[in-house]
Amino acid sequence: MTIINRQGYLDDMTTSRTPGPGASRLGTLYCSFCNKDKGTVSKLIAGPGVYICNECVGLCNLILAEENAPEFGAWNERPDDELLAGLGRIQAVVSQVDAAVYDYVDTLRARGISWTRIGEALGVSKQAAWERFSGED
Ligand SMILES: [Zn+2]
Repeated sequence: MTIINRQGYLDDMTTSRTPGPGASRLGTLYCSFCNKDKGTVSKLIAGPGVYICNECVGLCNLILAEENAPEFGAWNERPDDELLAGLGRIQAVVSQVDAAVYDYVDTLRARGISWTRIGEALGVSKQAAWERFSGED
C-alpha cells in the first residue's frame, strides 16, 4: 500500500458513515494502544480492526521526532498491578481485532468466497476456518 493509498484508506475510515470492521460487534471502540474509549479522546482513527487515538498519534510523533518522548522502560519490568491492568487492556484489543476478523469473514462469505480461500488467507485449513467462523457444529 503506497502512502497515498494508505492516506486515502485512513481518510475513508475516519469519514465513513460505516463503522470499521468489527465495530458493530462491540459496545464501544477503544484505542488499541492506550485503551481509552472513543468518548474520552478527541479522535479515534480506524485501521483494519485496530484504532489509534489522537493522543497516541501525538506521542508517536514525539517519538519519531525524538523530542521529549517519555521513557517507558521494559514492559516486563513493570510492577505486578501495572502488568495486570495491561493484561486487561491487551485482551480488550484482542477482542476488538477478533470482532473485525469475524466481520471480514462474514463479508467474504456473503460474497460467496469459499472456506478454502478464507482458510488460505488465514493460514489455516478449510476445515479450521469453517469450524471457527461458520457457527455450525
Ligand atoms: Zn490511544
